[in-house]
This record gives sequence, C-alpha cells and structure tokens, in this order.
Amino acid sequence: MLPDFRLRQREYLLEISRAMSARLDLSAVLELTLRSAVELLAGQAGLITLRRDDNSFFPHASIGLPRQAVPLFEPLWRDLESEESRSAIPDISLRLALGSKAAGVPLRQVVALPLEIGSETIGHIFIFRARGAAFSNNDRQVLGAFADQAAIAVQNARLYQQVNAERERLNAIIENSGDGVMIVNPYRIIQTWNKALVNLTGIPPEKAIGRPCYDVLNLRTNQGVNVCHTACPLLHPPADGRLYIEGLHRRADGLTLTLANNYSPQFNEEGKITQYVANVRDITRLREAEELKQTLLSVISHELKTPVSIIKGYAGTLAREDANWDKATLAEGLGVIEEEADRLDKLINNLLEASRLQAGGLKLRLSYVELDDLARIIVKKLQTTTPKHTFVVEFPPDFPPIRGDYERLQEVLTNLIGNAIKYSPEGGQIKVGGAVTENNLVRLYISDEGIGISPGDQEQIFDRFYRVDNRLTRQTPGTGLGLFLVKAVIEAHGGRVWVQSSPGQGSTFWLELPFE
Ligand code: ADP
Repeated sequence: MLPDFRLRQREYLLEISRAMSARLDLSAVLELTLRSAVELLAGQAGLITLRRDDNSFFPHASIGLPRQAVPLFEPLWRDLESEESRSAIPDISLRLALGSKAAGVPLRQVVALPLEIGSETIGHIFIFRARGAAFSNNDRQVLGAFADQAAIAVQNARLYQQVNAERERLNAIIENSGDGVMIVNPYRIIQTWNKALVNLTGIPPEKAIGRPCYDVLNLRTNQGVNVCHTACPLLHPPADGRLYIEGLHRRADGLTLTLANNYSPQFNEEGKITQYVANVRDITRLREAEELKQTLLSVISHELKTPVSIIKGYAGTLAREDANWDKATLAEGLGVIEEEADRLDKLINNLLEASRLQAGGLKLRLSYVELDDLARIIVKKLQTTTPKHTFVVEFPPDFPPIRGDYERLQEVLTNLIGNAIKYSPEGGQIKVGGAVTENNLVRLYISDEGIGISPGDQEQIFDRFYRVDNRLTRQTPGTGLGLFLVKAVIEAHGGRVWVQSSPGQGSTFWLELPFE
C-alpha cells in the first residue's frame, strides 16, 4: 500500500474524529465517514444501516445513491440473524444483485463490515463499486478503521442522547419540585431557580439566574444584618460540615418570609466543588410557632415573678423568729399569700387561654372596675417589695368605675407600677393617679423618677420583646413583654396608652379608657 494512501486514510479519520468532537449530528458524521471510505476504496456508493429496537436493520446514511433507491436495497440487510450479522453477511453478492435490480442502480461489487460496540453489532457499513475489480482483503482492512469510527459516532450519539434525556428528566424534577431548589456555582452565582422558588419569592428566573444568591435572597436577621454576608456556610463552612443558613427574606410585595437553605456540594472527579444544590424551604410558620411558644414561656415567667416575690416577701416576714406577730397581722399576711397564689393560678390559665386565642384577639370578662381602689391595692402590695421608693396615690373622690376586665387591668397596673420600681433603681417617688377628661374618658398616670426613656426607644417599648439596650435593662429581669401586654389589654378595652419621658428625668405612662 502506498504511503500517501495511508496518509490520506489518516487525514480522513482525523477529520471524522474532529467532526465527532464538534458534536455534528450523527447523520452528518456518518455521511462524512461514508464519503471518506468510498473515496479511499475507489467506490461509487456507500450505505450505513443501524439496528432498530426490534433488532431489524434500517438504512441510516448513504452516499452516491438516489434517495428513493436506498430502501430498495433492503435485500442487503433483510433477515439478518444476530449471529450472521456479526461475521460476514451470507450471500452478500446475491443480496446486492437483488437490491441493485430492485433499485435500478447497477452496482457490481460490495464490501461490508459490522459496526460493533463491545460484542454488540449495531449496524453495517457497505461500500459499493459499479465497475472494476472486487474488493480485496486490504480494502476490508481499510474499511475496518471507518467502521470503528462510525460505531464510535453512533455510541457517542446514543450516550449524548441518554445524557440529554437524563438532564431533561432531572430538570423536570427540579423544576416541579414542591420545595424551592436553587443551584449556585462556587462563586455563589445562581444557575438554576425553580418554579417553587418563583412562587415563594415572587422573583422570576430571569431576575435570579446569573446573579449572586446573596443579592437575590438577601437573607437578614431580625436586626437587619445580612447573614448571606456574615454567615454564609459556603464561605465559612462550619466544623460539622452542615451547609445551612436561614434568615428573613423581604419580598417585593412587602411580605417577610423566613427561608432556610440547605446546601449540598457536588464534586468533579478531582474532588473540586463544581456547584451547590440548595433546598430552600419556607419556615415562616415554624418560626412563628416557635416564637409563640417562646412568647408564652416568657410571658409566664415574666408575669409569675411579681406575685412570687410578694409571696416570698410575706412568707419571709411572717416567719421571722425575732418577731411576735399578732393574730390580725398573721391573718392579713396569710390572706395576701393566698390571694397571690390564686392570682398565679388564674394568671397561668389566662396566659394559656390568651395564647390559644391569639388569632382571635383578647377576650375580656367585663365587670365594673374601680381603678382607684385597684391602684391602691396594687401599690400596697408592691410597696412591700421595695424599701427605696415612696408611693403617692391621688384620685379625685368621685372617680368613676369603668367597665373592664378586672384581672387584666390588675395585670396592666401591676406591670406599669412594677416597671416604675424596676427602672428607678435609685428609688424616688412613684405617683399613681387619675382624672376624668373633658371628653368623658378616664385618664390614669403612673410616674417615676427613674432612668427615663429616650425618644427613639419610646416608639418601640410597646413592641413585643423590645427592651431598651442599657446596662440597667441588662441587669434587670424582664422579657420586653410587659408593655406589649399592657397595650394589648388597654386597646382591647377601647383605650390607648402612651409615655412621656426624657432620659434621666423619669417617665410617666398614661392610660386612657372610656367609661359609661
Ligand atoms: P421588661 O420590663 O420585661 O423589659 P416591658 O415591656 O415592661 O419589658 O418594658 C420594655 C422596656 O421599656 C424595658 O425593658 C425598659 O427598658 C423600658 N421601660 C419600661 N418601663 C420603663 C420605665 N418606667 N422607665 C424606664 N424605662 C422603662
């Protein structure tokens, strides 16, 4: 064989490989293979058949044959048993003669080789001559290389198809997953953003894909700190390897969600991370439920403190061995203890009920309440807990009763007077008083000479859990729920509450309630 023939063969084969790696479609690669083989073998036509799922063969690519003539060469691949198809095709000259005649294309010589992937024959390559000598063994050998290329091309196309089908299947799973699924690259740029995430966040894919996830999700803490910047598990992987982050996401429509992202990294063969798949769940309800539970616990502990300290104060005083209490004092002290224990019991029940009824608002048990008397009773009780403070109670003699919930109003005054004590650690005077306004409302005040509240904090102290951040607050037990409850109860009575204060000058809390 001539060296330049070998050279040409190499060039052809190279060209075919290039075509394959350029992902040309299968038919184009097979046609190129045929054209090269026909030329090299000095043939006039060529044909490649492939096997169908039912094991029969069909012509997939041809060259040098009129298109409509191709199927008429069917005797060439008719009834090939798998055994036969692997070796030489039996009676191939006869088959060609039949095909040529049927198609009306005079072809005299044929050489055919199976296309094989492993031990499987997936088709055949045929090269035809219309004239000249029969194909030699050499020709068969040359054709072998082309048959291999064709088989590889078919195999590649099948794998590619499989990968594509698999990818589409995966995409469909991700797209239709009920959970939010986001895929980010190692630089945290979003690659995939599924339908559930669109529904959850209201952000369409085109506004998410290609952008950094820390900008799109923008997860924050309650205090507004962007946790995607400060605590991203992809930047600072935790020791336990759990790639988790949660935070508040503010939607364009103003709704705030708590989102929880669980990332799982995907690695390439070298062990490098190629991407992270994040499951994004809406845990707003869960966190709300937890907060409610937390609230309930906090409220209970907060509200229990005052009566417990009164009981402890009385019990300690009555138990003093150096004192010889008379019967009347003993009876009064024990009476207070019993009353406070009852109040505790009721308080717990009320709190449980309030938490159950939170959605439906507060339920009031209305009766006539003499707020002036109530204030005197509470002052008298709380006085026993603090030797540093003096108390002044000032109500006009004809102060009218109001219709309200006795126990809840008792909670309100206890909270406000308790705060007046708590937040004036140096002692001082605490005044509780009231008057009737011109527009038939009763107005109460509770004033102290304590640390006062800055204007910025005054707006927020009635919010749930809000506590002013200063040393005294940090040292003072409390949950930031007292004033929240005060406001809820007063508003449920159709009234309002506000504060007047300046830092260092003491505070005055005002209550306004309607009366009949
Ligand atoms: P708590 O006392 O449990 O912290 P509150 O809801 O009763 O919760 O009060 C909220 C915050 O308002 C307190 O933490 C405190 O900083 C501030 N505050 C309430 N009452 C007073 C007061 N009389 N003087 C100064 N600060 C007060």
